[in-house]
Amino acid sequence: MIRVVQGDITSYRGDAIVNAANPSLLGGGGVDGAIHRAAGPGLLRECETLGGCEVGQAKLTRGYELPARYVIHTVGPVWQGGQQREKSLLASCYIQSMQLAHEHGLKGIAFPNISCGVYGFPKAAACEIAYRVVNKVFDRIPVSIEEVVFYCFEDELYRLMKAQLAGADADGRTRAREDSR
Ligand code: ADP
Repeated sequence: MIRVVQGDITSYRGDAIVNAANPSLLGGGGVDGAIHRAAGPGLLRECETLGGCEVGQAKLTRGYELPARYVIHTVGPVWQGGQQREKSLLASCYIQSMQLAHEHGLKGIAFPNISCGVYGFPKAAACEIAYRVVNKVFDRIPVSIEEVVFYCFEDELYRLMKAQLAGADADGRTRAREDSR
């Protein structure tokens, strides 16, 4: 099941929240800062042992003081105009995060809008990729995951993700049938 909510991902009470981290995994602004603040200093100490993370990859830590048991740290691509494999790297963030969740037998996982903040990915394209990739994983691979929740912090992203869920583009047009399988 896929749900879209508007709000702060640190409030998610399921198994894992995904962090849109930077390659150092040593904290930053945006959702990364919010997660580290809510999790407390134990999270940074564990992150310091991980040796960073490559773009498109994901690593798992405990959730410390968060309601979620785990944090999956993934590093989204910085948007550089679209010719630097940004789309496939963003897709990889979602796939690798779900793969890690599955390896740990997790059932509920929450995603922020990876790369949609300071990394500058075009929002509509990012939402389309996020929704399509998560759906594809559910459709094609048996996974432990039963629930994916997209936490959208911004009105525009909330609207775009809701439109994906409703099967329509943001302007209300029905999505091309090429998506149907
Ligand atoms: P990136 O560097 O991957 O672009 P950012 O943290 O700058 O990551 O932004 C990613 C998205 O997370 C943005 O849409 C931003 O509005 C959103 N965001 C910021 N704080 C939170 C939060 N507490 N919960 C959920 N989403 C958040």
